[in-house]
Amino acid sequence: MTFRASIITLYPEMFPGPLGVSLAGKALEDGKWLLETLALREFGAGRHRMVDDTPAGGGAGMVLRADVLANAIDSVSPAGDNRPRLLMSPRGRPLTQELVRELAAGPGAVIVCGRFEGVDERVIEARGLVEVSVGDYILSGGEPAALVLLDAIVRLLPGVMGNELSGMHESFEGGLLEHPHYTRPAEWEGREIPAVLTSGNHAAVEKWRHEQALNLTRERRPDILK
Ligand code: SAH
Repeated sequence: MTFRASIITLYPEMFPGPLGVSLAGKALEDGKWLLETLALREFGAGRHRMVDDTPAGGGAGMVLRADVLANAIDSVSPAGDNRPRLLMSPRGRPLTQELVRELAAGPGAVIVCGRFEGVDERVIEARGLVEVSVGDYILSGGEPAALVLLDAIVRLLPGVMGNELSGMHESFEGGLLEHPHYTRPAEWEGREIPAVLTSGNHAAVEKWRHEQALNLTRERRPDILK
């Protein structure tokens, strides 16, 4: 089963974007994951392909229409599609490594990118959209959020990361932020690499890294320490 992402967006030209290069791009080329974009405009209503309208009850901005979005969703994700249908949204479930792992283990995702003030609430209910947020700030559209989500998912797919082990020590995977890294030169601007790392004592290195990770997490992210 190949992970299949279907993106519904007003700006299909934003994809694959950064996902077309490096590991994700190579994996896309190799068919290790599939990406398709649906131009929301093509599902627009009437001769002018209207996708949005003014908010009921008044106020600033525009709202994406439920009927237009539903047509796009139904065309790519008919009843019975077992992929989750996601809506990128600042009101959503915060994106964590746990959620990324959950999604990467599944068959793919339908990802709706909002624009303007957001989307008509009724399409969220009627099509079972699960809202996902990439953080407590407001983007101008869901596309960068979808790129972030997919980048995090794709690197976990089988065969995408050359060195499978390097995925295991990352920040969050062990419930901690990652320890600091060093590489050559041994001395740079008068700064040396911590001696333990060049000692050849693997147990001591592991212990040092764990302590560093613990201290960093305590200092910067006490909220994730259990
Ligand atoms: N009026 C909305 C924000 C709309 S921003 C509110 O206050 O909640 C326009 C679109 O950008 C949203 O529909 C959503 O798809 C996307 N977006 C903005 N911030 C986001 C975030 N933090 N995470 C995920 N998507 C976001």
